[in-house]
Amino acid sequence: MTKLAIHSIRAISVIVLALSSSIYSTANDIRYAPVSRDVVEARLGKYIGNNKQREATLKQMFAEAGCDDQHISEQTVKGSKQPNVICLLPGSSDRVIIVGAHFDRVFEGDGVVDNWSGASLLPSLYESVKLQPRKHTYIFIGFTDEEQGEVGSRFYVRQMTKEQVAATDAMVNMDTLGLGPSEVWASHSDKPLIGALAYVAKQLNLPVSAVNVEQVGSTDAEQFSERRIPRITIHSLSQETWNARILHTSKDKLSAMRLNDYYETYRLLAAYVALLDEAASPPAVPTTH
Ligand SMILES: [Zn+2]
Repeated sequence: MTKLAIHSIRAISVIVLALSSSIYSTANDIRYAPVSRDVVEARLGKYIGNNKQREATLKQMFAEAGCDDQHISEQTVKGSKQPNVICLLPGSSDRVIIVGAHFDRVFEGDGVVDNWSGASLLPSLYESVKLQPRKHTYIFIGFTDEEQGEVGSRFYVRQMTKEQVAATDAMVNMDTLGLGPSEVWASHSDKPLIGALAYVAKQLNLPVSAVNVEQVGSTDAEQFSERRIPRITIHSLSQETWNARILHTSKDKLSAMRLNDYYETYRLLAAYVALLDEAASPPAVPTTH
């Protein structure tokens, strides 16, 4: 999260998510293979080091998850010392789903919650979707320098061609997970993507609610919104976890993580990104003959 200078606690609002299950009646069978809790926690434990080391660690974890040299790339980012780290999972169509999280940290604390919690899930999400053939091409991106003003995501979005923008059905952003149960920034997420998330949560009997954080800060998904790419941000901030003042302080350590909640968020996201292959589709355009 990029924090705002002034924090208004009142702005954290909780909303009940509407469930629109009828839309997804054809997608009851979500095919995905989640990794074990041990794997998720081992990857979380590799938060050590500065941004340079974390970039290298993320790349290594992608490789271990099976993303080979042909499919991993580093995108040099103007204005950042580190690149964006990208792992590509080709699908059978030209449609695209982007899953992203920033790997950089601020100086204070260990940057585990914000945002190794999100970045270290990328290889595990890649692993859980790769075992089945997919229609969408999945692009997993570790963004650089979110904390410096969404530098990596801004660069990524600006270099996208019109065609690439039009081909992207969803951008799923993870920032600040594991402080508690899964939350969605509903006011800055697109409704069909929220509906799909609520559907998956119901299917798996996992918790998710809406907590809006626009007075707390911003995050990488906002860059995608600028080009009208449907986006959703998952986090774990609530009144309680915000009041604990963990983000950007010395309290952002592994001990702040609620590991049960964190693994539940992973399970939810693993099913969710798999479901999106069925649920996320291009806007209906009248056919011409
Ligand atoms: Zn932050």
